[in-house]
Amino acid sequence: MKFCTLSSCSYANSVVVQGGDTCILIDCGLRKRDLKPFLDRVGLSSGDIDAVLVTHCHTDHIYGLKYLLNLRDIPVYSTAGVLKQVNGHCVFYKPPGFRVLEPYVEGKIGSLSLTPFKLSHDVETVGFTISAGGERMGFITDTGYVPDRCREAFSCLDYLYIESNHDVEMYKSSAKPWPVIRRNLGRTGHLSNEQCGQVLQSLDLSRCRLVVLGHLSEDDNEPGRARQNARRHLAPGITLTSAPPRVPGQWSDKLVKI
Ligand SMILES: [Zn+2]
Ligand SMILES: [Zn+2]
Repeated sequence: MKFCTLSSCSYANSVVVQGGDTCILIDCGLRKRDLKPFLDRVGLSSGDIDAVLVTHCHTDHIYGLKYLLNLRDIPVYSTAGVLKQVNGHCVFYKPPGFRVLEPYVEGKIGSLSLTPFKLSHDVETVGFTISAGGERMGFITDTGYVPDRCREAFSCLDYLYIESNHDVEMYKSSAKPWPVIRRNLGRTGHLSNEQCGQVLQSLDLSRCRLVVLGHLSEDDNEPGRARQNARRHLAPGITLTSAPPRVPGQWSDKLVKI
C-alpha cells in the first residue's frame, strides 16, 4: 500500500491511500480549484477515486466533498455520527451515497480493510487503521489526546500519519484569540508537537518504516520544530517527514524503500 497527502494543514486536509486495486481519499478539504490539479500532480483523476473516508465534519476536512461528488458519484464512508454531522454541515448538489462504518469494527472498501477509532475532538471524529497486502497504516488527526484503545490498536504499523499541530511555546505569542487557543490546547482540540512525541513514544513502532507528521499549523508551528521533536522519540531506522501545507506531498513509496 502507499499514500500521499494532497494538502495537510489547518486550511485543507486530504490524503490519498492506495492498496491493491483500490484508491480512496481520507477527507476532502480542498478548494474546488485545487481538486483536479492536485490529483493530477500525484498522477490521479477523480475517476480513480473509489471512495472518500471522512474523519469529521470540520471545513478543513470536507470543504471540497460536494465538488468532488458533483464530478462523480463516489461513496462516502464514516461512522453514523460523523456522516450525520457531515450531512448537517454540507449542502450537496445531490444526496451522497453514505456508507456506515462501526467504530472499532473492521470494514472493507475494495482491497482495503479499515477500522475506525473514536478520537477526542469537539465534534465526533475518528482515526483509522488501514490494511492491504500485509501492510498496515495508522491515521490519527484532530484530537486533543490519543485514547488508550487507539494506542493498543495502532501498534505493529508499517506507516503512521499523525497530527503534530502546534508548538506550545509558539502558542504563547500567538495572535489567535484566547478561546481558540484554549480550545486547541484542550482535551478536544489538537495534538501539540510535544503530545505527538509522547504518542510516538508510547506506540510499538518496531516494524514502522515511515512517520508523516500532518495538520501542522502554519501560524503556530514550524516543520523543523515538529520534526526535531518527533525525531527524539523514533528509532533511527524510521523515516520521518512532515506533510506540506496547501500542496501535494510525495508518495510514501518514494520516501521509503519498499
Ligand atoms: Zn482539522
Ligand atoms: Zn477538526
